[in-house]
Amino acid sequence: MTTDEFKGDIRQKHRRAIDEATTDITFGAWIDGETRPATTGETFQTSDPAIDEPIADIPRCTDEEITAAVDAAQSAFEGEWSDLETSERSALLNEWADELSANRDTLGLLECLDTGKPLEYAKAEIDGAIAFISYYADIVRSHGGKQIPVDGDSLVYTQREPYGVCGQITPWNFPLYLLAWKVAPALATGNTVVLKPAELTPLTALYAAQLSADILPDGVLNVVPGYGEEAGAPLTEHEAVRKLAFTGEDLTGETIMKAAADNITPVTLELGGKSPMIVFPDADIETAAEAAADGIFYNTGQACDAASRILLHEDIKTEFTEAFLDRAADYTVGDPLEEGTMMGPLAHRGQHEKVTDYIELGTEEGATLLTGGSSPDDSELDDGWFIEPTIFDDVDNDMRIAQEEIFGPVECLLTFSDYEEAIEMANDIDYGLAGYVITENASRAHQAASDIDAGLVAVNKYPGDDLGVPFGGYKRSGIGRECAEETLDHYTQTKTVNMDLKNPEL
Ligand code: NAD
Repeated sequence: MTTDEFKGDIRQKHRRAIDEATTDITFGAWIDGETRPATTGETFQTSDPAIDEPIADIPRCTDEEITAAVDAAQSAFEGEWSDLETSERSALLNEWADELSANRDTLGLLECLDTGKPLEYAKAEIDGAIAFISYYADIVRSHGGKQIPVDGDSLVYTQREPYGVCGQITPWNFPLYLLAWKVAPALATGNTVVLKPAELTPLTALYAAQLSADILPDGVLNVVPGYGEEAGAPLTEHEAVRKLAFTGEDLTGETIMKAAADNITPVTLELGGKSPMIVFPDADIETAAEAAADGIFYNTGQACDAASRILLHEDIKTEFTEAFLDRAADYTVGDPLEEGTMMGPLAHRGQHEKVTDYIELGTEEGATLLTGGSSPDDSELDDGWFIEPTIFDDVDNDMRIAQEEIFGPVECLLTFSDYEEAIEMANDIDYGLAGYVITENASRAHQAASDIDAGLVAVNKYPGDDLGVPFGGYKRSGIGRECAEETLDHYTQTKTVNMDLKNPEL
């Protein structure tokens, strides 16, 4: 399947693509190894943001399906799954990864249509998700406890044991990619999973679950679509769920943490960000402009680690701004199915409203709009939720556009004159997910990396996440780290064994 196969105007192309991607698939809840409708028979629609038309009807699940899924996951946990050898679970996860690979084009097309991201990028994210499943299948084989030296004749060691049923909730911006960040470490360590995908983009999660049929035992992976309060909340409140993991907004994270407190359930949270990129006076300007453009325009700015505040040293401000404006002009906005498109629409109507409201607010707050700010001047794109790359200059760090997560292709340029001021501005924010430093001076890079309050600092590049690289936030950006070996610790609990070695005589 290539982008060339979808000829015609944007609406025709997308309708044909929707047909092609969905005709052979029933998008039901995936519970205990089978596809099910909601017991109430109710559904909701997921839509294509490039043309604002429905793609598929999805079961609107509620606590009844959540309970069925948790029961199935509990039985699977008590059954063979946690008793399998680690090598056997690892082999099954790799088999699932192979099955996803074999269906990579369909998954990529579904992701593109559901989120609006360019098809080629969507396929690359599917590859990324598969890579994470294989990564955890591999590293879990060397994950375990340790021996602890103590005084006296005792042998003390720890072992890592799974929790049982994990409840996982994901957002709409990187649907399958973030599913892999959560499901793979949970299953690799012997847990079972009930996952609620975002109601706006549930397609790849549901299809990927179906592709686990005949590979993962029934009940090991369950995917229950629905709204946050109707399906997400009962999952977080269920007392048989022994571990919760959530990615989404910080305010939702608060609600989930409170629900987790009622059952003393451990919780990891991957929340929002408003990450600074500091461009020092010795920066390579082209490197800075490229990192800045990818940092705010990739995925139409709907990235938790977006570099959404650029702090510019006053000496390079003019040169950087010119180079950045050139990059913004080259960031092709268009039909996600077209080859060469770098930025598709925002993922849904509500996000478009939110982003345009923030653009209005920026002007009201006194920032200077350098470029963008509205929909592209292209009648083909009129019905979708498109927005141009947008850059505000003269932004003060206390403006709302500098402090709040816009989650769109809207950049804020701020100016500093010395190192202390840059670090103070970078850290004067409630979030702490990522930070970016652009400099040719290695000492300055290390010093700034150490001084920025964030879970990840990338130097001279965007993004900073990768296989095996711990990813997660300081402050209101969350608790815990995904993507890395330590994630396996989040999905296991420590059992200590302390054994008296005295009296060896027979
Ligand atoms: P959201 O918080 O609105 O929704 C996320 C998920 O939570 C959805 O599945 C939703 O249905 C569910 N949910 C909503 N209310 C709930 C409730 N009361 N109980 C249980 N579940 C509930 O977030 P979003 O708009 O989907 O995603 C965007 C946010 O996610 C941004 O803030 C972004 O920064 C963040 N994000 C963070 C990371 C990270 O790794 N730190 C990655 C991607 C996105």
